[in-house]
Amino acid sequence: MTLDVIKAAEIKKADPVFGQLSFDNHEQVVFCNDKDTGLKAIIGIHNTVLGPALGGTRMWNYANEWEALNDVLRLSRGMTFKAAITGLNLGGGKAVIIGDAKTQKTPELMKKFGEFVHSLSGKYITAEDVGMETADMDLVREVTPYVTGISEDKGGAGNPSPITAYGVYMGMKAAAKFKFGSDILEDKIVYVQGIGHVGESLVEHLTNEGAKVVIADINPERLSEVSQKYGATIYTGNDIYSEKMDIYSPCALGATINDETIYKLKAQIIAGAANNQLATEDKHGAILQERGVVYAPDFLINAGGIINVYAELEGYDKQEIMRKTENIYNTTIEILESAAKNGITTNHAAVNIAKNRIEERKKANS
Ligand code: NAD
Repeated sequence: MTLDVIKAAEIKKADPVFGQLSFDNHEQVVFCNDKDTGLKAIIGIHNTVLGPALGGTRMWNYANEWEALNDVLRLSRGMTFKAAITGLNLGGGKAVIIGDAKTQKTPELMKKFGEFVHSLSGKYITAEDVGMETADMDLVREVTPYVTGISEDKGGAGNPSPITAYGVYMGMKAAAKFKFGSDILEDKIVYVQGIGHVGESLVEHLTNEGAKVVIADINPERLSEVSQKYGATIYTGNDIYSEKMDIYSPCALGATINDETIYKLKAQIIAGAANNQLATEDKHGAILQERGVVYAPDFLINAGGIINVYAELEGYDKQEIMRKTENIYNTTIEILESAAKNGITTNHAAVNIAKNRIEERKKANS
């Protein structure tokens, strides 16, 4: 699987930032470097029309800095649309830390990263993403208030992943309703790729409902743990994309819908938590549309996490978090219907709604 990235070789190197394929009028890109802790991070602020740019921090062993830059540009843009379509008064931002979270993440590095976040005076608010834990956000909180996803005992909303998984489950059910005429997932074959924080929780919802769940992960211990806990089948083949399935749920990293995989895929629905699932939005979105595959836009259905952390800023309670997350079902149906009616991809339909909201606010502000 590729990263949330276009491979390094494809990334234009002549114009380091503004010329990047993934550059989409980002407002600000901040490169953070600290020799003592070994911190190398990039903060991407895509758009702040609706509010401060909120988005998680990902720590990943990128092959090179181009991949990291490309990732942060794509991810921060996605956050803009996610907040907009979910009706939150937030802009889009994201951060990446270059390095191995298992071996290179230290409390000093996290606090130094927090200082860089603080230097932006609240224009960017961080949270957790791949390679981060709630405890890391607690460390960042020691040096800046511009962080969410901190522990409940420290006044935060806690781990957002179960809420994200619930939203993905709602989006998946809505896609099933649209495609199959019923949102009942019992006996549907669902492949969950990546059974980390979000994937495991999603597997729980699906197995509770009686779906036939197959799990794939690069971590064999996780596989046996999750399989034993929920009775899911472990995938043992080597080409998940060619398998017979009703629903493909990417819950690891992005860009798994690409030139290599798209024509093999037999799933009728794609609904997962991973950000930026389509390697190239326009091209791969259109191929899915042609092939009658219902794609539930990632930034729409994985918004549970941002709804959860937004509660920390706005002070609403768990009940309201669940209500807003459950509403992902209705929004997904609206988007799928609107895409079908207008003959456009589901991704376009979702992006259009998000962009309209931003444009309206821009007008109102001026
Ligand atoms: P995580 O790091 O806890 O889990 C990711 C899992 O994917 C791990 O178990 C890892 O071993 C597995 N994985 C990595 N590469 C793989 C591969 N090639 N094939 C199969 N499995 C692989 O991350 P998470 O918090 O569960 O997030 C999963 C995805 O959802 C990420 O793309 C993240 O950006 C997105 N997301 C998460 C949240 C959240 O609340 N955590 C919110 C929105 C979006």
